[in-house]
Amino acid sequence: CGIVGYIGTQTASEILLSGLEKLEYRGYDSAGVATVHDGQLQCVRAKGKLHHLRDKLEGLENPAQLGIGHTRWATHGKPEEHNAHPHMDNHQRVAVVQNGIIENYRELRAELQERGHQFRSDTDTETIPHTIAEILTQLDGSDRTNAALQATSPLLEAVRQAVNRLEGAFAIAVISADHPDELIVARQQAPLVIGFGQGEFFCASDTPAIVSHTRAVLALENGEIARLTPLGVEIYNFAGDRLRKSPRLLNLNP
Ligand code: GLU
Repeated sequence: CGIVGYIGTQTASEILLSGLEKLEYRGYDSAGVATVHDGQLQCVRAKGKLHHLRDKLEGLENPAQLGIGHTRWATHGKPEEHNAHPHMDNHQRVAVVQNGIIENYRELRAELQERGHQFRSDTDTETIPHTIAEILTQLDGSDRTNAALQATSPLLEAVRQAVNRLEGAFAIAVISADHPDELIVARQQAPLVIGFGQGEFFCASDTPAIVSHTRAVLALENGEIARLTPLGVEIYNFAGDRLRKSPRLLNLNP
């Protein structure tokens, strides 16, 4: 599938749609975008090719400057709208897109359901927003919490703990209505690149989705998690150690 994400000063939904266009070759079972504006997540999804999503988004006033998008190649759950990404938690505070497969989703799903989480899709992916949302509510009381990272960003720390519970090959992008200045991405055996602009940052499964905005690109490596804010990008490993990395300039005319 194809993932895109944006945080900055432009209208996110337009950048997400044009990015998804460049990634449609990676999957066309469904498409969707989630954005954060005014403390709310707005999630719009459509079955089938991207133009169905474009039609739905047309006429929707959406000035959000933070968002994620997805074009799906279904592996778990039929290619229907309710299985389209992004997926959200029960309270619609966390939204996630995923490329890949969560191998242990059955166990995770059963455990989450036992604790009262209600699932709206048949996907492996939906376990992720539920897990992140649950961890967010428990951070203060958990001895697994990396206090330094939590002080930097509770959302980052919650995503870090969540990816440590996931088995499989995946890349994810995460936003939250309660954390409107952050886009968190993580990679484990599925591609994810970060684009560095001026006061704006991008993520995508592949560079064609972002090269029209910036040529300064960093490919995330396996076991890395990144926090994108309007001020910059921080990279960590899944243990929570900060890594020093900088983008390289893509040479498009070799
Ligand atoms: N396994 C996920 C799903 O079926 C993601 C598939 C993809 O990479 O598009 O929803």
